[in-house]
Order: sequence, then structure tokens, then C-alpha cells
Amino acid sequence: MFERITIIGFGLIGSSLARAIKQNNLCKTLVCADPSEEVGITVKVHMLADEVTTDLAEGVKDSDLVIISTPVGAMRDVAKTIASGLKDGAIVTDVGSVKTQVALALQQELPDHVHVVPGHPIAGTENSGPENGFAELFRDRWCILTPLSDTDIRAVEKVTAFWEACGSQIEIMDPEHHDLVLGITSHLPHLIAYTIVGTATDLEDDIRGEVIKFSASGFRDFTRIAASDPTMWRDVFLNNKDAVLEVLQRFTEDLTGLQKAIRKGDGEYLYRTFSETRAIRRAIVDAGQATYVYPTQKQEGAPPAPAPKKAAGSQE
Ligand code: NAP
Repeated sequence: MFERITIIGFGLIGSSLARAIKQNNLCKTLVCADPSEEVGITVKVHMLADEVTTDLAEGVKDSDLVIISTPVGAMRDVAKTIASGLKDGAIVTDVGSVKTQVALALQQELPDHVHVVPGHPIAGTENSGPENGFAELFRDRWCILTPLSDTDIRAVEKVTAFWEACGSQIEIMDPEHHDLVLGITSHLPHLIAYTIVGTATDLEDDIRGEVIKFSASGFRDFTRIAASDPTMWRDVFLNNKDAVLEVLQRFTEDLTGLQKAIRKGDGEYLYRTFSETRAIRRAIVDAGQATYVYPTQKQEGAPPAPAPKKAAGSQE
């Protein structure tokens, strides 16, 4: 599909993409560009890329497709760094969880002779780093693309074909709409999980010990989400401020409604609310978005292992 692909930032998402690229033969040469020497060593040991460099501008030279897979807060600097190294007609995409700010940064920092197609795979886990990636991460998941108004349609089609080859389905959206939708489905739940687990951390020692010892499934599920990467999530909230504050306001009002119902003993209100939420869960299960086909974690080139189903990770 491409002669040369460069992935910048070889963590969970970048390395999962690398595995999917190798498994599906999507390019002749795959380059890992990551400033961390340690990441480079892991990439070499696991043979996740054909070339490895810590020099980002050097790493994008001659690449037809460049995928920025760093935390959102680093993307503007990355774009600045690689701008002079990009070849004419190269396609630059990203995987950031926030789109308005990222699309703006890429548009402002990258030269006119490249095609910018921002993207966001709705797939992930609470784990970070190249050792935790797996090729099947994107299978049967959505990937949202937010092309700029003047992006060449052929570049959008190529990025679409790329994600489809990795197993995803594509949806095209305005970046602002993306940020509002993901604000509700992903960013708010993470904020709530961080809060609940944070509250437990602040309890006195004896109670905290019992919270961990008798951790019921509700709290356990929140701790999994709250184990997500702090850098990534700090950047998400700093870069999706308006949408998050808007959904947080609505959430606070709904929570106050439940608080009132409990105080007044309004069982009918509680039952009605919980029945509606149950229907949403069933709709998600019916849409096939509640479980994961999980990692082979095997070496590239090996045939994929039969895929057991496992509970979904933090599908950011
Ligand atoms: P990750 O595992 O922490 O990987 C991020 C990688 O980027 C690391 O190798 C990191 O190196 C590198 N990096 C950090 N700053 C950099 C810089 N300035 N220049 C170049 N490389 C840099 O994170 P991830 O989970 O793959 O997330 C990557 C992106 O995917 C984020 O934008 C996130 O919003 C998005 N995303 C994540 C998920 C998810 O569930 N995790 C899902 C969808 C989208 P060091 O380790 O040395 O810092």
C-alpha cells in the first residue's frame, strides 16, 4: 500500500500499528522514530520496524505516510520538528484522542506540500509502551478521521484504505464533533474513574486497606480505567477543555438529580434511570463494541493465534 511508513512515538498505539502493518504487508519499509533509546532497543529486540532512529526529521525523510503516535501535547512540537524533512505529497496523520487542537497544530506547523489527515482509532487499553501493543487492537473498531476542509480526497481515501487494512471501520467527522462525542464516551468516564479511585486513595489507611481487600467489581473496573497513562490523559483534558467542561456540567446536573431522588426516596426515578442505562449497555453489546479480540503478542510474521475474547480495555 505504501513504499515507506514512519511511525513517530512507538508506544501502545504506535507499536500496535507497526504490528498490524507488518502482519498485513502494508509497506516495504517501516521506520520507528522515537526519541527514547530504550524504546528503540525494544523495537529492535521485537523486530517491530525495519529502521529505527531517535532523529524524527531524519526518520520521516522519503516516507509516503507519517503517523504521529505521541501524546497529544507533544504533537505540535513533533510537527515543527519534522516539517522540513517531509517529502512532497507525503501524507501525515495522527492517532491523538483529541482532534480540534491537533488538527489546528498540524495545519499550522506542516508545509503546504503535504496532505494532513488527522485520525483517532477508538481502540486502546490501559497499558502503555511498545511491549504492550498487539496487531489485533484495531480489528472491528472504529477509526474516526477528521480531514481538513481542503485536504486532497485521494489522501483521505489512502488513509481510509490503510485503517481498513488494519481491520477498522472508518467514520469521517468534524473535529469539534469528534471532541464532543469522545468527551462523553471516553474523556468523562476517565475523569470519573480518576476521581473515584482518587477518593479511595485519600481515605484513612485502615479504610483504604479494606477498599482494596473487598474491592467489588464496580470499583475494580474503575481502577482499571484509572490506571491509564497519566501523560496521555493530562494532555487529553488540557486539549479538550471546552467539550469536557460542557459534558461535565451535564453530568453534574444528572448526578444532582440522582442525589435528590435518593434523598426523597424516589425509587421510581432511580428505577427508570437505571433501566434506560441498561438499554444503552445492551445496545453497545449488540453493536459488538463490548469485547476485545485479544493480543497474540506473538512475533511479527507468525500466524495470528486463535483469538480469545477478553473484557474490553480502556477504549479511548
Ligand atoms: P504510549 O504508550 O505512552 O506511547 C507514546 C509514545 O510516544 C512513547 O513511546 C513516548 O516515548 C513517545 N513520545 C512522547 N513524547 C514524544 C515526543 N515529544 N516526540 C516523540 N515521541 C514522543 O501512549 P499511547 O497509548 O500509544 O498513546 C499515543 C497516542 O494515541 C496519544 O495521542 C493518545 O491520545 C492516542 N490514543 C491512545 C489510546 C489508548 O487507549 N492508549 C487509544 C487511542 C488513541 P517515551 O515513553 O519515551 O515518553
